[in-house]
Amino acid sequence: MKKIIELLKIGDLEQTIFVKLKDNLENIFNSFNISISIFKDAIQLEKAEYNSERRQYNANKILKRIINHTKDFHAFRILGVMDQDIYSEPLNFVFGIAINPKKRISGVPVVALISITRLREKFYRRPENNDFFELRILKEAIHELGHTFSLEHCNKFCIMQFSNTLMDTDKKPPQFCESCLKKLTIFFKSL
Ligand SMILES: [Zn+2]
Ligand SMILES: [Zn+2]
Repeated sequence: MKKIIELLKIGDLEQTIFVKLKDNLENIFNSFNISISIFKDAIQLEKAEYNSERRQYNANKILKRIINHTKDFHAFRILGVMDQDIYSEPLNFVFGIAINPKKRISGVPVVALISITRLREKFYRRPENNDFFELRILKEAIHELGHTFSLEHCNKFCIMQFSNTLMDTDKKPPQFCESCLKKLTIFFKSL
């Protein structure tokens, strides 16, 4: 049976960006017999998830809410997508976070979250470039989903390289290296 990754919209997010990500992820994960769908209802951001001193949202709080929101749904994987800046201590900001399936409590959905805010040229006061923007969103989505498939950070030319800056994101390819690909194949066979 085909496994499904559900994309969950969090807060205000442009629909065209969301649909484009779905199509792009479909092309990547099709060969793994995984399809992508859009989760039936979006969730709104809450005040308690916002840190007014940092002017950022707390990624871990949002991740917890994604879990609560989707726990009865028995989805294979859930990827939350949002357009507000997020942080996770001790880091100043994160492009995304994910649950490692080896560390999760059984029965809890395996979820990940990405924020697209820092992937825009505009964030760095440069002229907008939609091609860059879309590719970066795809890269961060594949990366966090990779973590939900048990992959760790990788130092080869690989999507699983850690991104500390936008330049890191731009440098890495939108693909898994051979050794991560091997691990993925073993992981999917074990399901
Ligand atoms: Zn990572
Ligand atoms: Zn790798």
